[in-house]
Amino acid sequence: MSSDFVEDVEQVASLKANSIVSTSFQESSDDQENIFRPKYLKDFQGQPQIKDNLSVFIKAAKSREDALDHTFLIGPPGLGKTTLASIIANEMGAEIRLTSAPALEKPKDLAGILTNVTENSIFFIDEIHRLKPAIEEMLYIAMEDFEIDWVIGQGPAARTMRIPLPHFTLVGATTKAGQVSSPLHSRFGITCHLEFYSVEELSNIIRRSAKLIDCEITEDAINMLAKCSRGTPRIANRLLRRLRDFATVLGDGTIDQSIVREGLKRLSIDPNGLEKQDRNILSTIINFYGGGPVGASTLSISVGEAIESLEDFYEPYLIQQGYLIRTPRGRCVTRKAYELLGLSIPENINEYFTTIN
Ligand code: ADP
Repeated sequence: MSSDFVEDVEQVASLKANSIVSTSFQESSDDQENIFRPKYLKDFQGQPQIKDNLSVFIKAAKSREDALDHTFLIGPPGLGKTTLASIIANEMGAEIRLTSAPALEKPKDLAGILTNVTENSIFFIDEIHRLKPAIEEMLYIAMEDFEIDWVIGQGPAARTMRIPLPHFTLVGATTKAGQVSSPLHSRFGITCHLEFYSVEELSNIIRRSAKLIDCEITEDAINMLAKCSRGTPRIANRLLRRLRDFATVLGDGTIDQSIVREGLKRLSIDPNGLEKQDRNILSTIINFYGGGPVGASTLSISVGEAIESLEDFYEPYLIQQGYLIRTPRGRCVTRKAYELLGLSIPENINEYFTTIN
């Protein structure tokens, strides 16, 4: 093996892997959120089909002493994609490395991580729809053949070496499956679409989280909180923490219905979980664009919200709740949106509106 090659491989292996990848959530994200993260499938609420299937695939991979097939997690933010990736690692008894696509700037960033993963470990890439093309191409070979191509030297003397990699499981997460190229999509053996959670599932999550932070909360309050958590565990946990603050300062420390009512009012959240910006989005479509259709970029400028958060955070819940529809020509509000805002429904409503309602 040439010293050039060894040097290059060493260089790849020591690349700034540390700054772009982490091996635990403590390094990677909000500490408060980590307290609530379930570690095993049995504590992961909801998503019954995903849990059932994953537990079979994990058992099978373990019994073969094999890596789990590459797994693709799709769903809006806060539904548990990162949590599931760490659960998969725990259930497999394997290491996990976490990064996100925007942090991978050059192919050598990816090479640095892949040459450091261990056999059967989990490599989690968040926002995988944002991978740069050159990195995505390197990933194809890594996923399929567990090798990467590495170019040594420059100019006419340049040559390509194939570096073998340990068998690993790529867990890719995205909020935008439509933006993931089909060659990448097709290399995942397991695909899981996470759905919004029911009020009952969110109630279980809130009950468990309250216990973890030693917070007294009544059953009525749990139910009210679950109903305005937008079907999203992250929001349920965040609301729980804020309401605990209100209960500590305004009450006797227990979250009850009156604390929930007061807290939600102060946070401008209505009983359906809609925030000020949700209502702003709906009223902007009605007042400025006659109820729609209006394109996402125009709407994002009008409401002063980044297009990413409009599409990933606000719209999915508004659509799921039946206030908004996406059409090929843009976004339109529905009858329910007019009713929510207390506005009379116009007679000359657009064609999408009438066909949907
Ligand atoms: P995503 O990666 O999809 O944005 P996360 O996995 O970071 O979401 O989850 C956000 C928060 O919600 C975490 O604190 C996690 O504990 C909690 N959570 C998500 N899904 C569940 C679930 N099914 N059961 C319990 N808690 C969950």
